[in-house]
Amino acid sequence: MVGKADIVIIGAGIIGVSTAYNLVEKGIRNIVIIEKNYPGSGGSFRCATGIRASFTSEEHVLLMKESVKLWKELSEKHGFFYLRGGYVWLLSTEEQLELFKKFVEFHNSLGVPTRIISVEEIEKLVPTINTSGLVGGVYDPLAGKADCFKSLLLLLKYVRDKGVQVYTGTLARKIVVENSRVQGVETDKGFIEAKKIVVAAGYGSRDLLKTAGVDAPLNNLPKHALVTEKFNERFKPLLVDWSSTSYMVQTSSGTFLIGAEIEEEYNVKPVNRIEFLYKAAQVWVKYFPWLAEINVLRYWTGYYVMTPDHHPILGPIDDIDGLYVATGFSGHGFMMAPIVGKLMAEWIIEEKPSIPIAENLKLKRFREGKMIKEIAVFG
Ligand SMILES: Cc1cc2nc3c(=O)[nH]c(=O)nc-3n(C[C@H](O)[C@H](O)[C@H](O)COP(=O)(O)OP(=O)(O)OC[C@H]3O[C@@H](n4cnc5c(N)ncnc54)[C@H](O)[C@@H]3O)c2cc1C
Repeated sequence: MVGKADIVIIGAGIIGVSTAYNLVEKGIRNIVIIEKNYPGSGGSFRCATGIRASFTSEEHVLLMKESVKLWKELSEKHGFFYLRGGYVWLLSTEEQLELFKKFVEFHNSLGVPTRIISVEEIEKLVPTINTSGLVGGVYDPLAGKADCFKSLLLLLKYVRDKGVQVYTGTLARKIVVENSRVQGVETDKGFIEAKKIVVAAGYGSRDLLKTAGVDAPLNNLPKHALVTEKFNERFKPLLVDWSSTSYMVQTSSGTFLIGAEIEEEYNVKPVNRIEFLYKAAQVWVKYFPWLAEINVLRYWTGYYVMTPDHHPILGPIDDIDGLYVATGFSGHGFMMAPIVGKLMAEWIIEEKPSIPIAENLKLKRFREGKMIKEIAVFG
């Protein structure tokens, strides 16, 4: 293992890899990525692959809009699956419809072309859906999905080919700080000296930041998802049932990926629970009776790394020179990865992000009581 690097990134999830990618694009080569398991083994390979800009805070909408553009460019350049198949939010009460009318107005004011759709339009966009009980929906045509495996692995290959060193099976134990300056990272394979460290360690970020004396309000919330057998193409959009905050999407390989919210506690080990399967089946077989004939292939758990305001913590840690963080995505870090990687590289090299509103997402917002509101989180 090398003893010294310009920049060490802890975590080879989509955020760490995207940060390395953007640093490489700026001509930086002496980068090390430390990953305790294998790349993607955290949230990134467990996600539902959804990508959208239809959020309810200005910070999220503006950054995700940029991310949506970057997903298209990256997929074309590196050749992985990405499709703007849209999102359809299924609404079953007049109150939900009223709330979403306000969201749509907000999205449109920021250039995201969502619109309220009738039950008949839902039936056109989502053939074979049983719409009884629905009063309408919201369609986000800019939204879509990407292959979470290939996107990460192709970007990782790209940075490796450019000289980035990736140490898998290597645990970062401690971030060493002296006189408020980062000195390096202690791993289970030895010490790496570095003046700049990026913590992109997902569910491991809170503990790692503590070793540098930084207390970040991050909590790991277990989440559940399943995938079925392959089926012929039924519909393109990712569907969200707002009443149950569950979602369903048909992946590029034809399988159906379903997530449904069940009650969970922070920071417990995720375990498979039968009530998840009941809930997922209850919600989605009602919409698609034919789904009852399709077998579940796999069921897995993973964490949403939550912050109190459901926005990530990004950028430099003000009190410690050389320490950067990108975590706390609260269930939407995959879609945000392209823009986050770009912003992180800008913070590291140019000391400021090209999208100024990103400054609102620094850790200090919690200390300063400047939390941001986001409602459109589900799953
Ligand atoms: C069921 C489910 C569905 C989801 N659906 C979506 C979706 O549709 N769209 C979306 O945008 N997001 C979704 N997400 C969230 C998304 O998966 C995450 O926000 C995203 O993957 C976060 O990426 P990351 O790189 O920050 O974290 P991770 O992918 O978790 O990567 C962090 C890495 O750091 C490593 N690590 C941790 N501690 C250490 C240490 N001490 N030393 C070395 N390495 C360490 C871990 O092993 C891990 O590989 C979903 C999540 C789940 C669980």
